Amino acid sequence: MANVYFFGEGKADGRADMKDVLGGKGAGLAEMTNLGIPVPPGFTISAKLCIQYITTQRFPDDLRNEVKAAMARVEKATGKKFGGSENPLLVSVRSGAKLSMPGMMDTILNLGLNDQTAEVLARLSKNPRFAYDSYRRLVQMYGDVVYGIEGPGGRDVFDDALSEVKKQRGAKRDIDLSADDLKQLVATFKAIVRKQLGHPFPDDPWEQLWGAIEAVFKSWQTKRAMDYRRVNRIPDDMGTAVNVMTMVYGNMGDDSATGVAFSRNPSTGEPGLFGEFLTNAQGEDVVAGIRDPEPIAQMKKEMPPAYASLERAAATLEKHFRDMQDVEFTIERGKFYMLQTRTGKRTAQAALRTSVDMVKEGLIDKKEAVRRVQPDQINQMLHPMIDPKAKLDLLTTGLPASPGAAVGQVVFEADDAVARAAKGEHVILVRRETSADDFHGMVASQAILTARGGMTSHAAVVARGMGKCCVAGAKELEVDEGTQTFHVNGRTVKAGEWITLDGSTGRVILGKARLVEPELGGEFATLMGWADELRKLRVRTNGDTPVDAKRARAFGAEGIGLCRTEHMFFEGDRIQAMREMIVARDQDGRRRALAKLEPMQREDFVGIFREMEGLPVTIRLLDPPLHEFLPHETEDMAELARTLKISADDVRHIVESLTEANPMLGHRGCRLGITYPEITEMQSHAIFAAACQVAAEGNVVHPEVMVPLVGHVEELKHQVKLVHQVAEEVFKERGRRVEYLVGTMIELPRAALVADEIASVAQFFSFGTNDLTQTTFGLSRDDAGRFLPFYVEHGILPDDPFQTLDVGGVGKLVEMAVQLGRKASPSLKIGICGEHGGDPRSIAFCHKTGLNYVSCSPFRVPVARLAAAHVAIGEKDRDI
Ligand code: PEP
Ligand code: MG
Repeated sequence: MANVYFFGEGKADGRADMKDVLGGKGAGLAEMTNLGIPVPPGFTISAKLCIQYITTQRFPDDLRNEVKAAMARVEKATGKKFGGSENPLLVSVRSGAKLSMPGMMDTILNLGLNDQTAEVLARLSKNPRFAYDSYRRLVQMYGDVVYGIEGPGGRDVFDDALSEVKKQRGAKRDIDLSADDLKQLVATFKAIVRKQLGHPFPDDPWEQLWGAIEAVFKSWQTKRAMDYRRVNRIPDDMGTAVNVMTMVYGNMGDDSATGVAFSRNPSTGEPGLFGEFLTNAQGEDVVAGIRDPEPIAQMKKEMPPAYASLERAAATLEKHFRDMQDVEFTIERGKFYMLQTRTGKRTAQAALRTSVDMVKEGLIDKKEAVRRVQPDQINQMLHPMIDPKAKLDLLTTGLPASPGAAVGQVVFEADDAVARAAKGEHVILVRRETSADDFHGMVASQAILTARGGMTSHAAVVARGMGKCCVAGAKELEVDEGTQTFHVNGRTVKAGEWITLDGSTGRVILGKARLVEPELGGEFATLMGWADELRKLRVRTNGDTPVDAKRARAFGAEGIGLCRTEHMFFEGDRIQAMREMIVARDQDGRRRALAKLEPMQREDFVGIFREMEGLPVTIRLLDPPLHEFLPHETEDMAELARTLKISADDVRHIVESLTEANPMLGHRGCRLGITYPEITEMQSHAIFAAACQVAAEGNVVHPEVMVPLVGHVEELKHQVKLVHQVAEEVFKERGRRVEYLVGTMIELPRAALVADEIASVAQFFSFGTNDLTQTTFGLSRDDAGRFLPFYVEHGILPDDPFQTLDVGGVGKLVEMAVQLGRKASPSLKIGICGEHGGDPRSIAFCHKTGLNYVSCSPFRVPVARLAAAHVAIGEKDRDI
């Protein structure tokens, strides 16, 4: 099998569908060649060799010959010679995995330069400054990437030497240094290499090339690359390809330029080229945010023919790939080259707009449009924005790099962000500019603010990919990591102070601004409508209040799958009545407290039934781990003592006697309703009274009463009987009947094992996968956070099982319960209301297992609708 694939002239050896071998970049270069788009000639070394090389430190025997042959083709295509003294060929060596990992792996430019070829280049280009600048960049990059040279404390010794020369010459910018200064810098850099390594910098271009190829393969295993793969679920055994490509220079004068562009706006999805460029500059100046680029529209004015080439190439590529493209280009002395094309990363808003637009343009069908918007991605759109009416203390404005708004405390270091986020704090990472080393801090932060860099800088690209709010290139910001402060317009903000970012407008605001909910219409509604046509699973919400119900309906919920009645008692005077009930010493005391709670509960049910307008509403009987309600503070105990007219000591005694070692496995769920039937009676009364009241108003109501934490069918029978009794009493009292169901949660392994018995009594099942995960793993929901992250980080578990359903274990119980339940009762309605009901991968499992619905928090409802559509599409149409 071939290991090396030529591109750049005529017909390439590779194609777009060979990403496994060529990586994304290599496949794009091959396909562009095949489409007749100008690409600098080069070749790709197969990604299949990467892992092999890392494990054996060896290449296949014939690789050297293959590379030689490919280089000969490049030489022929360019008329230049690698290492040649007349017209030297210079190349770049870049990584490129199948899935894009921006900035995570290494690149080396200007390979092939040595003292002789630099001299020739200076002569041919008539620009010695450019030649020696390229040369010093080579030694610097090579020293860093291939040799890993660092000064004490990780200092960049090359950068220090560069600053030193600039200081000596009184030069502000790199560009202010002369050719001689740069030539001297090359010598200094080479001396650094020799001193640190004990051998000289290689003059032989072939030696340079092999060192670079090896370094790029090895960069697959750097910590930052491994971290990135873990977060983005990229398999470790994929490997990166290596792309060796003829250097073209955007810094050859004012008729040269370099830039990046999207075929449509990646923030909003608006049609038309969007991007940035810099005249007389090299690509890495743009990506690293060292110089601030100009908007692409300016290029139309300054370089009309090159702009036309870019526009044409972008249009060809978009049509060919039927998707928005993200391209890098260089213009060398007026000649246009495309250096890269890939599917553009976009915000949720842009994903929606481009998908819906492309259906209208006939490029893709509705199914493809739905498939292109990732469920987790639309989460971004549902997030709050800054209240337009809020009074704001505006510090400055940067670029609106990734939309949404976020509030957090300022941190300056990625490690601090991680440490403080682990304590549950909300932080915003503020950096001069970010690099791949900041990635873990960006993951941990609510949002990212940078002082430098454009819309395509590292911070902007990575934040958009994560769906995280980001303001980039806030130029007025002076970040001083040393003193842990930033200065802006004469003001100083310290670490720990609160700021608010608006990633949609670029505003940086001092303090905590009020955030408001977004409005969802237009493309969102269109695309979600298409998703609804495709999905089979129904989507309900977990909601405990009329406000939740209203919000969830706006998000498209088709019912309430879980109303946790104990949540209704957390607030205000309700908690006091609830505590009274819990600590009551006898039934009379409990009944007195319950009588206070009943009207409040009934009112809440009325509100929810009204909001849901005839959609099913599953109300779960009381299921609190009691400790959540017990008073622990002296003040609360004293207040309870006053209400109960007993001594504070008595209260303390009662509280102590109720304290459980394992409250999550304690006196909760149906165990409460069985030992204290008056609780179930009160709740059933409230449910049916509310249902009759709302029915009397002319509305349809569909209450579904759900019994929690059932392990034995007798427990369920006991509660079902009670619920029916109360229902009949209320119907008699009110002179009307309403349709209702009584079902159960399946959240204990025993319930799953005897699901057929349970189904003979229950009218529906709802999987409580939070408790089912806890009890299947024997992991406490309250305490598992202490070690689960370690498990996930070290690969003991692939995911946190409380976030993504453990298909292999917990999932087996779910499948078994579905089979047994439906055997006993073929039309049994089955749903899920644990946290997994809003997790796309768990939703795919629910679809495959034949559940009727998933239920999740209101904000996850659109995510679930889309995830349900995705799994339905995947099943019908596996080839897309
Ligand atoms: C569950 O256990 O999955 C569930 C939904 O109930 P809770 O989280 O209230 O225990
Ligand atoms: Mg539960």
